Amino acid sequence: MEAPSQVSLNKDAWDPSAAAFAFVDAKMLVLPAPQVRVPLLSELERCGTILGGPFEVSRPGERAAVALSMTARPGCPGLELKGLRELFGLLPEADMEVAARAFQTLEWSAAHAFCGRCGAPTVYSASETARNCPSCGAIFYPRITPAVITLVRRGPEILLARGLRFGPRFYSLIAGFVEAGETLEQAVEREVFEEVGIKIRDISYYGSQSWPFPSQLMVGFTANHADGELRINHSEISDARWCAISELPGGIDLPTKYSISGRLIRSVLVPTPSSGAER
Ligand SMILES: [Zn+2]
Repeated sequence: MEAPSQVSLNKDAWDPSAAAFAFVDAKMLVLPAPQVRVPLLSELERCGTILGGPFEVSRPGERAAVALSMTARPGCPGLELKGLRELFGLLPEADMEVAARAFQTLEWSAAHAFCGRCGAPTVYSASETARNCPSCGAIFYPRITPAVITLVRRGPEILLARGLRFGPRFYSLIAGFVEAGETLEQAVEREVFEEVGIKIRDISYYGSQSWPFPSQLMVGFTANHADGELRINHSEISDARWCAISELPGGIDLPTKYSISGRLIRSVLVPTPSSGAER
């Protein structure tokens, strides 16, 4: 592994004007005033010790951006630590995308510091986002975990579900991880049937979102109810119910509009003051 070093601009060829997506544990360093923004690499100089990275994480056509994990020296001027979820709505969406990419890259890199096949230390590839094992030749790419999330409709109603770890008011959609050997559509059918015992049809792709908690790719679908009454599997969810899109039941909280689940739900709601559909 690379030796820890102070954040120093003299050491490497890093562009000091690159946006620095810097994490201390799972929180990101941001400059809060006057508007929350991502610091430049030059603004982190001597602010702490680098533990991982910097890794280039900008995509073609984007401004230069690097990911690094570090320790933060207390009182580094003006910088604050914020969780990624807190930053939804505070940072522009384009920055949130890079933040998600940066966090996942750092998580993956830290988790693959040693080869899972032979145990030797791995090294970060100079040519691609990969860690190579110099001992046995294994290559490790960032691990992305696909999960499906589905909006099920039955005429003018949608199916909302409350996860086991959600608060009593928080309702979202049926979601779950894709299993080995499954297509995305098979995962959608299986998850819906496992959690609420109904058959669905007309499964259609809606969109996807990188969800860095810690490494999911959320793939959104819509579907229509085909057959069966709700039969809640209480080992998977605590509640599920059909809700009218013209008026959701009072007192329920929906996922943030920055998440794909929130977008899926709001895409069909008929907005009224009581529906919880933020415009
Ligand atoms: Zn190896």
